[in-house]
Amino acid sequence: MKAHVFCTLPDILASPLRCGTLGRAMDAGALEVLVHDLHELSPDPHHKADDTPYGGGPGMVLRVDVLAHAMESVFDADATVLKERFPVVLLTPQGKRFDQSQARELASHETLVFLCGRYEGVDERVREHLAGREVSLGDFVLAGGEIAAAAVLEAVARLLPGVLGNDESLLRESFSGPMLEYPQYTRPADWRGRRVPDVLVSGDHGRIRAWREEQARQRTLHRRPDLL
Ligand code: SAM
Repeated sequence: MKAHVFCTLPDILASPLRCGTLGRAMDAGALEVLVHDLHELSPDPHHKADDTPYGGGPGMVLRVDVLAHAMESVFDADATVLKERFPVVLLTPQGKRFDQSQARELASHETLVFLCGRYEGVDERVREHLAGREVSLGDFVLAGGEIAAAAVLEAVARLLPGVLGNDESLLRESFSGPMLEYPQYTRPADWRGRRVPDVLVSGDHGRIRAWREEQARQRTLHRRPDLL
């Protein structure tokens, strides 16, 4: 998979792309991420990527012409038709709430494009003509789309074949089915008198499986009954 991120602060992505799952996905050749700096690609003589909002008001707005020019210089095609070729995802708090099913769907594409706003956001014509879909991390406001793009990318990358050490963990984790994952424990078996449940050290795999299923059901019922 190849992912393109168009943004104004590419340095924010340096560490997430180098470390952990994203770094591993790139080392394994499962993922290539190209970060495009909108200031560098801007046709403006001063390399500006944003401007003040028409009608007044605080802050700066990312320019549609700058974003379109950057996309066209990378893809050598009309920026308004790219969304028909692959997902062009605008990160915005006004978008559809991101979830595991969207991550799975995005993971099925060969190419992904992420458009990141900053300050007051993006010119409305970006949403109307360049983006194919709008994704939000949740009902809160980040300062820019870079961290949101990194979060979505990490959720997608860990679903790519061969990226996780053990693909089995994808089958059992929260949101892979209707239930949250069961509680996990590791050493020490006794921490300040708080012991791990006896069943987990019993060696009886049938009982362990049944206990885990019941725990997953109970915690889903209490924490996320909407999933059941
Ligand atoms: N003025 C905008 C509004 O009220 O909807 C918010 C702009 S926000 C400060 C700047 C940028 O951060 C957005 O263009 C978007 O790319 C990103 N962003 C902020 N919150 C986000 C969220 N919850 N999910 C995804 N992206 C977000």
